[in-house]
Formats: sequence, structure tokens, C-alpha cells
Amino acid sequence: MKMKIYLFGELSLMSSIPFTRKIALVDCNSFYVSCERLFNPKIRKKPVIVLSNNDGCIISRSNEAKALGIKMGEPYFKAKDIIIKNKVEVFSSNYSLYGDLSRRVMRTLKKFGSPIEIYSIDEAFLDLSNFPDNQIESIGKEIKATVLQWTGIPTSIGIAQTKTLSKIANHIAKKKLSGVANLIGVENIDPILEKIDINDVWGVGKQLTKFYKKNGIYNAKQLKNKSNTWIKKNSNVLSSRTALELRGISCIHLETTTTKRKSCVVSRSFGKRVETFCELKEAVVNYCLNASEKIRSDSLVAKTITVFIRTSPFQKNFGYYSNSKTIDFAISTNNSIEIVKTAVFILENIFKNGYQYQKAGVMLTGLSNANQKTNLFSSEKDEKISALMRSMDNTNFKYGRSALSLASAGVQKKWNMRRNHSSKIDTANFYNLPKIHA
Ligand SMILES: [Mg+2]
Repeated sequence: MKMKIYLFGELSLMSSIPFTRKIALVDCNSFYVSCERLFNPKIRKKPVIVLSNNDGCIISRSNEAKALGIKMGEPYFKAKDIIIKNKVEVFSSNYSLYGDLSRRVMRTLKKFGSPIEIYSIDEAFLDLSNFPDNQIESIGKEIKATVLQWTGIPTSIGIAQTKTLSKIANHIAKKKLSGVANLIGVENIDPILEKIDINDVWGVGKQLTKFYKKNGIYNAKQLKNKSNTWIKKNSNVLSSRTALELRGISCIHLETTTTKRKSCVVSRSFGKRVETFCELKEAVVNYCLNASEKIRSDSLVAKTITVFIRTSPFQKNFGYYSNSKTIDFAISTNNSIEIVKTAVFILENIFKNGYQYQKAGVMLTGLSNANQKTNLFSSEKDEKISALMRSMDNTNFKYGRSALSLASAGVQKKWNMRRNHSSKIDTANFYNLPKIHA
């Protein structure tokens, strides 16, 4: 009874204090470029760009590269003149490096103990509502400094009452020397919102932008100050939430549940067309090794595997073929040997001669916790296999990815992606450790 009264007292006390939600958006600056720079201090002050798969388009630019007028998403060949003239450093994308550094950044953010939503490879929302208003800016600066010190990745942090406003705060933070912008406690937000184009507001896509502009809404301030009746009458639920969020009323909540992955996909487009079963098998086996290592590092096991292959949809004169097949494992597993064996079996089933394959992939689904595996049939043999997998992962961690592998993975890898500018940095390689410059 005593307990109940105490709780009641606490609750009424809490509701008498006005509660401000404080959402921080942490965004890594030019993330892929920053990853490359981390291992290559010589390019820290130079213009740098990173290219998409098969060196197609520009997907990350340093500030110096932006200043040269190089556009986001521009095809590489179109920007070649500027690149050569200004000695821009060019890198092919190295997703295993970026994925690894992303995990390190997120792990660092989790250390602060606040609820977190990992929004993309280089962005996360943190709920800092538990900190007092007057400390919030210094907390932001501390988070930024810690991430930089622990991972070497520079970030910008925007803090505000809602997710939508924290995105806007982040835009502002990007331009500030401190890299942190705090909108909590700002009395009149209108002058800030006036400078934000409507299409730069989070959740406002191409179609909505057109619609808003037709109705005289060109910036965030104008959307915020539109009447509820107008918004409700004219657009869907999602955009009315945006308007409320701009007013500081939080209605898009953090999605923090289950940070663990539900599936693991490894697929690539080939650098050149692949025709033989043997080459395709090599690729699929490598994807399996990659995927099984990933799920082992998260202590997960997979219930199901899917293998898919396809030719290019654009090469019409060679005929289009695409197929996939899914198989359940007898018992959920993360054993590379088992996974490879099943994948090769599937490939034998779906492979057809006489086609030029452009893409293949492996997907592990039905992931669950490896420790929770209640397996009546587990035996001494299973123990030996998991010991073997552990030593394989440890060796590869020390001596570089694929130091230890299966014979079927092949050694030549002719099918590999075109990556003419790869930095070849592998975070699983001990000799690639970045040096700390204090
Ligand atoms: Mg970013």
C-alpha cells in the first residue's frame, strides 16, 4: 500500500513539470569519405569522392569536393574533367569497411545509455529527454567528441523537440564550427524554419513538394503555420504529422525495438558477365562465407537460406533469366560448411547454361539467437564445428578477411566487382589499424 502511494506521488509530481522531449540526430559527416580518410591521413585536406558499385556514380563527397561543384549522384564519367583538373582523390566503395565503422559508431552511441534508433548506415536518433535543458548542448558536444575519439569519424549533431526538427537542427549543425546545433529553448523558431526549403523537410518527397508549392508553401515556416483544417483537408496523415512536428509536438516516435538484424543479405553485381557454373559457384560460396561470418559475429543462427541469380535486364539480345530458391535448414545454423553446402545444392537446381549472369546473392532469414537454440540433437560433432568456426573467425580477424576459407570459395575471383579505385582497407586486417593522432 505504501508503495502505491509513493508511486502516485511521483507521477503527479512528474506531470506538474512540463516535459520537453529532446531528440538528437547524430549524422556522420561525408561518411564514406571520412572512412577512407581515417586510414589515409594524406587525403585529410584534399578533395575526395567515393563511387557507387562498379564505379558508376558519385555517392560521397568531402567539403572540398562539394566546393568544386561536384554533384551528389552524378555519373563518374561526367565529372572526370573537374576530377583530373583538381586532382580529386577517387575511391571505389568499400562497403565492408563502411559497415564495420558504422557498427563502431553506433556501439559508441549506445554507450550513452539513451534510447537509440539506428536510422541509416551513418545516422542515428537518440532520445536525450532525461537530460536537463541547460545541459543538453554540452551533452551533444560530449557525444560528438567521444565518437571522434573512439572511432575517428566526425559527426554533426542536431537537437530539438521532435525528429523532424532535429533533422533541421542537423542541417544547421553541419554549417557550424562546433558541429552541434541545439533548438531546445529557442523561443521563436520561425526565422530558422523560413530558411529551410520545403523539399529539405524530412518526409517531404517530390510529390508533396509539388503539391505544397502549388499551394504557396515554399519553406518549413509556411508549412508549420498552415491551419490544421487546411492540412487535414488537403493532405494525408503523414504530412499533418510533419506540420505538428515542426510546431514542436512530437508524433513520430523512435523505433528502438530489436536492433538485431532479422535477415542478412549478401549480393553483388559482377564486374563482368559470368557464364560458367564454376565461376557462379565461387561467387555464391564467397557470399555464404561472408553472410555466415556476419551472423556469427551477432551470435545469430539462420533458419532459412535463399539463393538467387539473374542476368542483366538490359541485355535483351542475350535473353533474360532470373531464378531463386529457398530451403529450410534441418536445424537453424550459422555453420559455414552447412550453409555453403545448401547454397551450392540450390545453385545446381536453378543454374541454366547459356546465359550471361550479372548478379547473384545469398539471403539468410529467420535469424534467432544462437544461445537460445534448444537443440535436442546437438552432439559432440556440433561442438567441434562451432569451435572450428570460432577459430576461422579469429584467424580472419587477425590476418585479414578470407585468410582461412573453404576450397570451394576459389582463389581467382574473376567475378569480383569492378573496383578500380579501392583503398583495399580491411578492418579485419590487423595491419590496417588506423594510427591515433592525439
Ligand atoms: Mg551523413
